[in-house]
Amino acid sequence: MELKLYNTLTRRKEVFKPIHKGHVGMYSCGPTVYWYQHIGNLRTYIFSDILKRVLIYNKYKVRHVMNVTDVGHLTSDADEGEDKIEKAARKEGKKAEDIASYYWKVFREDFKKLNIIEPDIWTKATEYIKEQIELIKKLEEKRYTYRTSDGIYFDTSKFKDYGKLARLNIKGLQAGKRVGIGEKRNKTDFALWKFSEKPGLRQQEWDSPWGVGFPGWHIECSAMSMKHLGETFDIHTGGIDHIPIHHTNEIAQSEAATGKKFVNYWLHGNFLTFRGEKVAKSKGGLYTVSELEKIGFAPMDYRYLCLTTHYRKPLNFSIKNLKSAKNSYQRLKNIISEIEDDGKINKKYLREFEKAINDDLEIPNALQVLWNLVRDEKAEGKYRTIKKMDEVFGLDLLKKEEIKIPNEIMEFVEEREKARKSKNWKKSDEIREKIKSLGYWVDDTDKGPVIKKLQNENNIQ
Ligand code: AMP
Ligand code: ZN
Repeated sequence: MELKLYNTLTRRKEVFKPIHKGHVGMYSCGPTVYWYQHIGNLRTYIFSDILKRVLIYNKYKVRHVMNVTDVGHLTSDADEGEDKIEKAARKEGKKAEDIASYYWKVFREDFKKLNIIEPDIWTKATEYIKEQIELIKKLEEKRYTYRTSDGIYFDTSKFKDYGKLARLNIKGLQAGKRVGIGEKRNKTDFALWKFSEKPGLRQQEWDSPWGVGFPGWHIECSAMSMKHLGETFDIHTGGIDHIPIHHTNEIAQSEAATGKKFVNYWLHGNFLTFRGEKVAKSKGGLYTVSELEKIGFAPMDYRYLCLTTHYRKPLNFSIKNLKSAKNSYQRLKNIISEIEDDGKINKKYLREFEKAINDDLEIPNALQVLWNLVRDEKAEGKYRTIKKMDEVFGLDLLKKEEIKIPNEIMEFVEEREKARKSKNWKKSDEIREKIKSLGYWVDDTDKGPVIKKLQNENNIQ
């Protein structure tokens, strides 16, 4: 079956064709590790996880690279302000590399909690300084760069298709262009290398052909993606906020350096919003995954919530929405826990599911197909079909929750078993009621009593 993906570059759904048959090279812009990632950031990584799982489902071998920005991302997108990592290190009185490695560690823990598959290759910007310098040198040789008092800049007016991804109105943008751009030649020009104001002041700085300093934020993604995936690769992902600046600049500097097309398919995830506004770190960032856990939500409840909205639409967050996702997810798992493996696959439902996921990742529709399957009393092959579908959802649908039964309950269960053996049904029923009042339920099966934890009155886990 054909896989169709919406390509931001063409603003159309296109049939996906990889460069090398059966293989996909995919790069995702990763976190700037100066603070915790909020659940908005994580929505973008759940989206790229689903994309990767759909590719794997379609039998592609995926090589997935994700960067960790541990230098060069300034507090303003206009190449001004302080380096975010340096600023956090100063504030917390720590070493820059400790800040970066701590928040990166938490990020990876969140991946695990949200069942996001880790990339095959993590690339930290500070470990690819040489590659970034090489790329800037290439741009310099091809005369795309110029020098100001604070750094080496890319001259966007020299790159023919600058702004093609975002369909920027360059003429409009450049109008009144001298205002607020300092020594830059054009408003859209961006730093490739920034000089340290005073060598020794920053924690992270390197020697370069242009002077001591550090790389601009955009150059890292071009250098590291091309290093691991080649000068032209298949898929690049990120949040929609990256379209007009970060990804636009990645394209300009990569294509200027190589003379080749940089990426064939650009995919962007829409925002998590709160009261209609983008959730942003600069505004406090709403919740982290750990904060959600503290108020009683499992990370996977949030994953379920993300799957209920298509990745190209905004998802408005509220505790009410999350609660309803949690209930649906639990109900789904409860129903599935009763399903036995009959050794079959239900081709009809699986085909509907595949149609949905291969139509630009219509995961909400695919979830609907799953619900229809679990509710269809006559359907065969439920267990194995759900297992296949969960390769994409990543919701651990067949994983049985391990519940620890308290000793007190176990003692009642044993007492009840004795009563049942001596055919004292009245006593056995009384004990069952007692167990129920303590929040548990006993089912009598051929293999003996099975104990379940009650979620609420009607809800057995
Ligand atoms: P950052 O750590 O700021 O570089 O951001 C990491 C990723 O999160 C980027 O791909 C952003 O596009 C994405 N992002 C930032 N805010 C949101 C949001 N509210 N909803 C979804 N993705 C976001
Ligand atoms: Zn990037």
